[in-house]
Amino acid sequence: MPITEMLLTNKTARPGMKITPKALVIHWTANESKGANAVANRNYFNNPTTEASAHYIVDDKQIVRCLPETEMGYHIGAKSYKPEALQLLSSYPNNCTIGIEMCVNADGNFQAMYQNTVELAAGILKRYGWGIQNLWRHFDITGKNCPAFFVSDAFSLRFFGRKAAEAWEKFKSDVHILLTGYTQKSREYVDNCNIQIRLTVKGRLREGVSYLPVRAVAEAIGGVVGWDAETERVTVDGRELAVTIEDGTAYASARNLAVALGMQATWDQASRTVTLENFPQNHE
Ligand SMILES: [Zn+2]
Repeated sequence: MPITEMLLTNKTARPGMKITPKALVIHWTANESKGANAVANRNYFNNPTTEASAHYIVDDKQIVRCLPETEMGYHIGAKSYKPEALQLLSSYPNNCTIGIEMCVNADGNFQAMYQNTVELAAGILKRYGWGIQNLWRHFDITGKNCPAFFVSDAFSLRFFGRKAAEAWEKFKSDVHILLTGYTQKSREYVDNCNIQIRLTVKGRLREGVSYLPVRAVAEAIGGVVGWDAETERVTVDGRELAVTIEDGTAYASARNLAVALGMQATWDQASRTVTLENFPQNHE
């Protein structure tokens, strides 16, 4: 999706202060009127009396850049900030964040806008070497109901047919898949820590490849295993997995199973142990 550069000239929304971004913040425009697309919102920001701005505005047809990423916008100013934002961002998070506005104009295709936003967000995270932990909702910083469809069930049910927390997890997961090529099981995700799981299941070593029992491992970390008895096909989180069946138990190579679970497998020859860890978030 090409980015249309329409930098603001309104100084009350574009102070010109240089910033070093640390995080990406997702918003919605909260304007469901017909015609309230990216250009219309950009023109609103550029109105001389407007004191709000964001770096990008996304609709179903294009992405508009309103500010260089290295300049401060006014998208998350508030009287007070959540402790986590103060700790991880700054005492005035506008000075270290990039803002993206998602359009919800009634004459736009919401799904196309959503996909454009996923691609833009993944592209930004990739360029800065950031992970999903650098992706915030406006709500996470100030408590504002923004983007409402990722915060409030009433809105998320209308836009996504699912609860807000799930919709936000899905968005992060969609960004993560583009970012890394791996599915992210966000609910296991804890900051930067790698989670090691230790199970007592017995794997099998065959021709130097370690095989693990699919169900025992997947379910231990919240994966969903599907099994078609007729075709003997096994899926993990909806992905088909190559397995061999031994004594009624499906085994997959540790590496393939880890990929299906969005994790990374390492094999320690000395202790004959397979370790599954959350895929590293930062590729530094
Ligand atoms: Zn917002």
